[in-house]
Amino acid sequence: MVLKLDHIDKSYITPKLVVPVLHDVSLHVEEGEYVAIMGPSGSGKSTLMNIIGCLDRPTRGTYELNGENVLNKNDRDMASIRLNNLGFVFQNFQLLSRQSALDNVALPLVYAGVRKRERIRRAKAALTRVGLEQRIMFTPAQLSGGQKQRVAIARALVNNPRLLLADEPTGALDSKSSKALMELFEELNDEGVTIVMITHAPEIASYAKRVCNIFDGVLTERTDSDRTKIEAAGGGTFR
Ligand code: ADP
Ligand code: MG
Repeated sequence: MVLKLDHIDKSYITPKLVVPVLHDVSLHVEEGEYVAIMGPSGSGKSTLMNIIGCLDRPTRGTYELNGENVLNKNDRDMASIRLNNLGFVFQNFQLLSRQSALDNVALPLVYAGVRKRERIRRAKAALTRVGLEQRIMFTPAQLSGGQKQRVAIARALVNNPRLLLADEPTGALDSKSSKALMELFEELNDEGVTIVMITHAPEIASYAKRVCNIFDGVLTERTDSDRTKIEAAGGGTFR
């Protein structure tokens, strides 16, 4: 089991008020799965992503990543868990604008203490895997949105993470680049990469093999009969 979240609550606690966001969220993900978490803006998707990504802690509940309890770790150990287990992809790419694609992709390997020659070798291989071998010396400004997101995916994969986490990965892309990106995710999943993707868009979620819905901080699994009902109601194009 890659992910095992049970009975997660999350409230943001500010001096003036407590904002409850996640309510009794449980999610189990096995190696090789491709899961989409779909919900409208404000439903708690990024809050859940930050917990899964070991960037924030729940108020209640348990969380095991690769069988290890991550909630009793200090911030420093959490950082090394992120580095060794997780690859992140965000809506706005989060690339360093003055660095080449190659240097952007190699950066996590600097933190992992990999030597320069090996960093370059692995970064080139990761860029080749996402179809950008012809663009390795380009800076983000010289790349399209879809290409920038591919660089971000290469960076997320360069350390061979157990899990690829994507928060609205197509949020800044046009529909053609979005489709190409979803085809890349399918390819990566076929190669064995475990993916948890967050989106508000049904047509994007429909690429995943398994879809969960989140609404007002409550997570529910979508069954095949739900799918049929939504399709029958014309509420999304599922393939
Ligand atoms: P989504 O990603 O689905 O749009 P978020 O997880 O970003 O939703 O936010 C869910 C709710 O939590 C929103 O009502 C938001 O205002 C609130 N929230 C998010 N971050 C904080 C924070 N740091 N402090 C207080 N409230 C927050
Ligand atoms: Mg969000």
